[in-house]
Amino acid sequence: MPEAGDWVARRILKAHGAVFVAQGSVVCPPSIIFTDAAGCASWQVRVNTRRENINGIPVELQTEAMEALLAARSEATQRNLRITPRGTWAARRNYRDTEKIWSRRVIPGLAFWQRRGKLSARDAARIRGLAPAQQVEEILRLEAQGLFFSKDFSRPVLSSGSAPGASQHISMLALDINEHSRAAVRTILARHGWFQTVVSDLPHFTYLGTLQEKLPALGLRKTVKNGRVYWTPAKM
Ligand SMILES: [Zn+2]
Repeated sequence: MPEAGDWVARRILKAHGAVFVAQGSVVCPPSIIFTDAAGCASWQVRVNTRRENINGIPVELQTEAMEALLAARSEATQRNLRITPRGTWAARRNYRDTEKIWSRRVIPGLAFWQRRGKLSARDAARIRGLAPAQQVEEILRLEAQGLFFSKDFSRPVLSSGSAPGASQHISMLALDINEHSRAAVRTILARHGWFQTVVSDLPHFTYLGTLQEKLPALGLRKTVKNGRVYWTPAKM
């Protein structure tokens, strides 16, 4: 758990923290946020992973998560369904990837809110000039005032990506898929330990390594939104 005063870490844990109760032989990151690329990389190389080429896309996940995914894929195939990775960033990401994804939300967002007259040119330039990790607190403060930084500026940035160094994809226990809108695909994934754990991040699944009925006892709460089930930290 983060320090009581560390509201940024608490916000990230509330939005993306389900991964920290993953069961089985998988390992969780040592902290909510990796503060630099080197620390992130040295943790990633120590984790047991398996790489597969799926639909022409290299996918790397922790070994047990990959095995569960392959089992889900073969069950899907038997039912004439597919489970395919959504782009080259679908699974493993490194620290720099998370910085780039963050900047792709934040830089257009700053320009948008400046055009709308909600943010001064001076404040926008100041925040743009900060290192990505230093922007997080500023952006979350702006969102508290209703200036959102998701791709369409309508939702919190943490609903469509994470902060630099904090993504579930760094832990190699997350996968974005193309077929996320098919309920039957979501059911198959859940049977193999893969769940949706970030509300409104539609393509995003997290390997929790257990069955749905065990999740409440692990401290996760069920949210149903637009017909989808999400599991997020209950007490935050
Ligand atoms: Zn994702």
